[in-house]
Amino acid sequence: MVKAAITTPAATNPFIPFPFVVMSRRRETRDTVTLRLRPLRNVRLLAQPGQFMMLSVIGVGEVPISVSGLPRRPGELEHTIRAVGSVTRHLVALRPGDYIGVRGPFGTSWPLQLAHGQDVLLIAGGLGFAPLRSALLSILRERWRYRQVIALYGARSPTDLLYRRDLSRWQQRPDLVLRMTVDHPDQYWRGQVGVVPNLIRQVAAFFEPANTIAMICGPEIMMRFTIRELQKHGVPDEHIFLSLERNMQCAIGLCGHCQLGPFFLCKDGPVLPYSRLAPFSDIREF
Ligand SMILES: Cc1cc2nc3c(=O)[nH]c(=O)nc-3n(C[C@H](O)[C@H](O)[C@H](O)COP(=O)(O)OP(=O)(O)OC[C@H]3O[C@@H](n4cnc5c(N)ncnc54)[C@H](O)[C@@H]3O)c2cc1C
Repeated sequence: MVKAAITTPAATNPFIPFPFVVMSRRRETRDTVTLRLRPLRNVRLLAQPGQFMMLSVIGVGEVPISVSGLPRRPGELEHTIRAVGSVTRHLVALRPGDYIGVRGPFGTSWPLQLAHGQDVLLIAGGLGFAPLRSALLSILRERWRYRQVIALYGARSPTDLLYRRDLSRWQQRPDLVLRMTVDHPDQYWRGQVGVVPNLIRQVAAFFEPANTIAMICGPEIMMRFTIRELQKHGVPDEHIFLSLERNMQCAIGLCGHCQLGPFFLCKDGPVLPYSRLAPFSDIREF
């Protein structure tokens, strides 16, 4: 018998967390894991790459975490979480079979449809690769829809690289240009050393700036220099999309914690084109 699908609380009451169970846990780095989650009940939930969920641990708290994978079955979620404070430390310590509260999906998504027929540049710094991984997986699933696909990824050191298994598979693909760089190489590192924006120059021959959609996520300083480099190459501001992470609590544009200029980043973002953000780029934490 097929159980009737019910909508998530985001569609009914967005404040009620929905119970999910941890199906698997994969260690990415010393402090970061990827969890695969399954709803306890049949839910109608489709989180788009770029969107985020509010994940909660009972008695500890709730935090926004991006979708980092694509669902293998309806309702499933994949999230990559770095332990930085009280809630994320608890999330990273969860084991298969543990329960977790989930609200969402919330926010805007990467402009994957807009990128159809265009060159695509995905540029990630550190944990910023988490929201971009779901975009890249989606693009590779429908690879024929896009022209050149270029992924640039920078991490602090080789041991900070996320998704090593994916990276080695992606490096073999003739239809993907993947370049990685680290700030601090170790004795085994044979790749690039330096900051991510430097990679843009190296792949400039692969994309046509006027017909390129760029998607960026990473630390603020990395995004600033990346935007500057893309502008130098002639990528229009309205083709440059950023994912901005700010303190978010309600996730539905009520509490104001994530306000940047006129935007509530939980609802108008986290993904926004630079053309709309540029007037507010002087505000700290942008
Ligand atoms: C839209 C969005 C998507 C996100 N996606 C991910 C993700 O995929 N994976 C992931 O690991 N994290 C992600 N984050 C960041 C995550 O929400 C924070 O790390 C988390 O809220 C910290 O909570 P805590 O209780 O563990 O730490 P706290 O005890 O609250 O803080 C510990 C430290 O983390 C800093 N911090 C707190 N909130 C944030 C924040 N929102 N962003 C950055 N630093 C913060 C604090 O300044 C402090 O230095 C995302 C944030 C947003 C807004």
